Amino acid sequence: MARKEFLPFSLPLIGEEEKKEVLEALDSGWITTGPRTQKFEENFSSYIGCSHSIAVNSCTAGLHLSLATIGVGSGDEVITSPFTFCATANAIIHLGATPVFADIDPKTRNIDPHEIANKITSRTKAILPVHYGGHPCAMDEILQIAKEHKLFVVEDAAHAVAAEYKGRKIGSIGDLTSFSFYATKNLTTGEGGMITTNNSALEERIRPLALHGINRDTWRRYEKGGSWYYEVLDSGYKYNMSDILAAIGIHQLEKMPRLQQIRKDYVERYSVAFAGLPAIETPYEAPEVKHAWHLYSILIKPETLSIDRAQFIEELYKENIGTSVHFIPLHLQPYYREKFSFQRGDFPQTEYVYDRIISLPLYPRMSEQDVEDVISAVRGIVEIYSR
Ligand SMILES: *Cc1c(COP(=O)(O)O)cnc(C)c1O
Repeated sequence: MARKEFLPFSLPLIGEEEKKEVLEALDSGWITTGPRTQKFEENFSSYIGCSHSIAVNSCTAGLHLSLATIGVGSGDEVITSPFTFCATANAIIHLGATPVFADIDPKTRNIDPHEIANKITSRTKAILPVHYGGHPCAMDEILQIAKEHKLFVVEDAAHAVAAEYKGRKIGSIGDLTSFSFYATKNLTTGEGGMITTNNSALEERIRPLALHGINRDTWRRYEKGGSWYYEVLDSGYKYNMSDILAAIGIHQLEKMPRLQQIRKDYVERYSVAFAGLPAIETPYEAPEVKHAWHLYSILIKPETLSIDRAQFIEELYKENIGTSVHFIPLHLQPYYREKFSFQRGDFPQTEYVYDRIISLPLYPRMSEQDVEDVISAVRGIVEIYSR
């Protein structure tokens, strides 16, 4: 029997604390970048264990700014994963540079350091690892390659708030790291993002670039004692975060340990339930990392079933379970395929995973019953279609 109500793939969890803080921001007279954004940045830095946080209006903006700050431009190459959201590659293309894809490790679904090494040319400027689903990339290997070839490491940590690599949080390791606070992400402000860095020189360059290229703390010019005089030092971007969204972020961040614990509990339930099913491969967590569990993506083994991945998703839908696929590889998307002459077969590991992967619902707003419903739906489908 299918459950009665459709279970969406993702829902945000916004509490009374967030709502109250938004109202206070609205009443305060200060609704753009201001004191709440500053507080959110400070709290974020102490949570991550990094020196600087720069709040922006999306992770995409954060990646664009990061690449612009390290001087990526026309003719340059940036090595990244094809198994990501289009924003990752678009940020590179917006600067006139070329995204160079390196195939993934099918276990973690993260960029494979050996593949990175094979893709380095004299034009390579940076490595842009994506921490897929919240599983940290092999940072030691990536940093070593970057050091040898004098490259920057700009991380796409859209999935990776709370993720840890060898005891350090993602956001405290590479040169510049961008987080996403989009509606579906582990920490959400509706739309928003954060750039983190330990490099003060990079911070001094990137902060003004996020707000028109105007010199520091422009927003203070409207405060009592603020000066009307400012200087434009660069043709910067309009990527700053508003205090209305920072108000949400401050409280989401405070709740992260509790929210992450719920994700972990649900992951445990899923993985225990699916361990006995030969048709299902559960996600991997390397011993040296803490997974942020943004996604719980299973691989189905088509050789054990009489249905394929697309039909499996259809069956889950009939059971009123929403799912998603992360991601349709970028080299198979029309724009990149045509622009860079990619074809099927170019990234075999990415294609292997793509053909089998399904993201199941995983979010703290789910009830334990919701989790049980997903488990019994998956079990039931496997039972009916096993061969
Ligand atoms: C969501 C996402 C982004 C973009 O985040 P925005 O905040 O919406 O710009 C970038 N990369 C990955 C891997 C994502 O999942």
